[in-house]
Amino acid sequence: MKLPALAIHGGSGTITFGTKDSELKQQYLNALNVTLEAGFEALAKGQSATECVCKAVKNLEDCELFNAGKGSVFTAKGTHEMDAAIMDGKTLKAGAVAGLRGVKNPVLVAYDVLQNTPFVMISGEEAIEYARHREFKFAPDSYFFTRLRNDQWQEIKGDGKMQLDHSGEGAKFGTVGAVAVDTDGNVAAATSTGGMTNKAWGRVGDSPLIGAGTYANNRTCAISCTGHGEHFIRGVVAHDVSCRMEYGGETLEQASNKVIHESLKRVGGEGGLIAVDSSGNICMPFNTEGMYRGMKNKTQTITRII
Ligand code: ASP
Repeated sequence: MKLPALAIHGGSGTITFGTKDSELKQQYLNALNVTLEAGFEALAKGQSATECVCKAVKNLEDCELFNAGKGSVFTAKGTHEMDAAIMDGKTLKAGAVAGLRGVKNPVLVAYDVLQNTPFVMISGEEAIEYARHREFKFAPDSYFFTRLRNDQWQEIKGDGKMQLDHSGEGAKFGTVGAVAVDTDGNVAAATSTGGMTNKAWGRVGDSPLIGAGTYANNRTCAISCTGHGEHFIRGVVAHDVSCRMEYGGETLEQASNKVIHESLKRVGGEGGLIAVDSSGNICMPFNTEGMYRGMKNKTQTITRII
């Protein structure tokens, strides 16, 4: 029996660590490991997949190494605007938020939308008002500030370009996500991001869009994506994987690989995804140089960058 199982990601892209960066590399791997261990332990004790992915993503939001929550990238206005989504594969209920500012954990608000409203997605000023009304934790701009993201923004600020959260020698996408299947065979997915550096005009990427960056359905799988959001939106990537399984009879592995290495690549889309099906199979394909990722089930624990 492969249940339960958990997979997480911390973004994909050109991930190059020099010999001097071994400590930083270890920090990334540790952050992934801590989240995997805590999440799997909770799953093994009977926690639902939906609860588990929410907590795993919250952990990653609290870690400034990733572009979500603390450590989110800068917008063109020098602010941090965060998006998140969560979906329960058993009920097909979903909750999402876009353009949140000052909220410490956007994924918690997304989960609250799923549980306590008739809506799927809320955005902007009124979503911030909702988070206040529901008494979620807020933090000043200084909490979200990191030197790395600020340097990335300073490089392109003012030239009107939008950039993935690391660039220069190539793009990196530091979005975080989790997918899980619990002991009852229910699947769930959650994704959270600061989006793209220097984004403007309320730009929203794929992460909070159900079917694009996040999707879960017990009949097929749970998916969380990372990459150049516009391509993932146009390709409705997460739902495409699910449809290939449901209507085309493909396995999780076939469907995930075809979408990332064929459909997405054809339109120049860079990125990756993590996926789990209700039998506990896990797949983590990416078409970039690397993807911060990890998976854990009863017999295996894996964390990788390249
Ligand atoms: N997909 C995210 C976005 O386009 C970026 C990322 O994955 O880092 O907003």
